[in-house]
Amino acid sequence: MSAEFDVGVVGAGIVGLAHAYHLARRGMRVLVLERHRRTQGASVRNFGMIWPIGQPSGPRFQLARRSRELWLEVLRASGLWHRESGSLHVVYNEDEEQVLREFVADAGAERGCELLTPAQIAARFPAVVQTGLLAGLWSPLELAVDPRQVIAELPAWLSKTFGVEFAFGTPVLGHSVPRVTTPDGERTVKRLVICTGADFRELAPVEFANSGLVPCKLQMMRSQAFGDRFQLGTHLAAGLTLRHYTSFAHCPTLPALARRLDAEFPEYGRFGIHVLVSQNGHGELTIGDSHEYGDAIELFDKPQIDELILNYLKTFLHVPDLTIAARWHGIYVKHPTAPYVVAHPDANTLVVTGVGGAGMTLSFGLAEQLLTQW
Ligand SMILES: Cc1cc2nc3c(=O)[nH]c(=O)nc-3n(C[C@H](O)[C@H](O)[C@H](O)COP(=O)(O)OP(=O)(O)OC[C@H]3O[C@@H](n4cnc5c(N)ncnc54)[C@H](O)[C@@H]3O)c2cc1C
Repeated sequence: MSAEFDVGVVGAGIVGLAHAYHLARRGMRVLVLERHRRTQGASVRNFGMIWPIGQPSGPRFQLARRSRELWLEVLRASGLWHRESGSLHVVYNEDEEQVLREFVADAGAERGCELLTPAQIAARFPAVVQTGLLAGLWSPLELAVDPRQVIAELPAWLSKTFGVEFAFGTPVLGHSVPRVTTPDGERTVKRLVICTGADFRELAPVEFANSGLVPCKLQMMRSQAFGDRFQLGTHLAAGLTLRHYTSFAHCPTLPALARRLDAEFPEYGRFGIHVLVSQNGHGELTIGDSHEYGDAIELFDKPQIDELILNYLKTFLHVPDLTIAARWHGIYVKHPTAPYVVAHPDANTLVVTGVGGAGMTLSFGLAEQLLTQW
């Protein structure tokens, strides 16, 4: 049987789009099948942070760095909004400053990171709260994208530039390559890449029966559009974030800091809250987040979590007349130890999921790596 397409990709989230990009660049005829008429998974619900600073040194950091290069290639070619924003972690306690010092001593050179003094921070990022500020960790590598724009507009660019075909509003019900079953009938592909995010079980139930993947719910907020009236100038984080990303896990004094934070901010620990802020081209701030796992996930959001996030935000950022224009939550799946999970239901089918909180960051690099290996 001759197949209509070289490769079918299931899911038009960022992982599916990144695979479609690499496949099409290799000259393949690609069909992307997305169940919703407008993509609405984790990939449109995030901060839009391309965040190598969160990846531990070694292969994962190198993958994030390569992914960043590929992002820039795509963003420049497609004309999608982006900013080489870098990132700043600001600290107000000596134990937090000590963790930053340990991080820079160990990995600063590899990552181009440096510690900034309060005066340097005030000069470059005037909205950061100065009272009690001890230092900031500056990293130049992080990028800002607008996830709503990327996910809405990248498909049209992939179609126009590489002839990728998209079938939105088309759930894949089953597959046995070359056949892919949809409610509108069968499509035929020589190979299939399944990138269905948190819905990973539906199309590979046997392979993922004991995957160890756990869902995580994050609450998020967006401010009014400030335009040019208020500019953050970078992605911003503070002390609570130091215990969130594994990139800081090797710092010798991190356990002591985590104990102090647990004692001082028990509610933040309970809901897995740390506070990050990004800003898009309209000047809207995206503010989050919390982390509730597995059975702790409830359908309805908790106003208490939003309040805790905003209270902590005020300790390190002055935002003039902050109004919350939108609130939502997102769900991703992650593995307790692995940065992503792949499976091969058969030799011509690849399933990629479990990119957790780093899916935007790793997407383009991961797709390149997996397709090269396949
Ligand atoms: C609130 C939040 C904030 C985050 N912030 C960041 C960040 O700033 N930086 C970062 O690096 N990462 C961030 N992440 C993580 C990142 O967003 C995810 O890792 C990434 O979006 C996962 O992409 P995906 O393509 O695997 O999944 P998804 O975006 O969920 O896409 C999967 C797609 O598959 C489709 N689908 C499922 N089943 C079928 C089917 N049977 N047939 C057809 N289509 C199907 C779904 O409709 C969906 O569109 C964040 C996540 C959340 C939730």
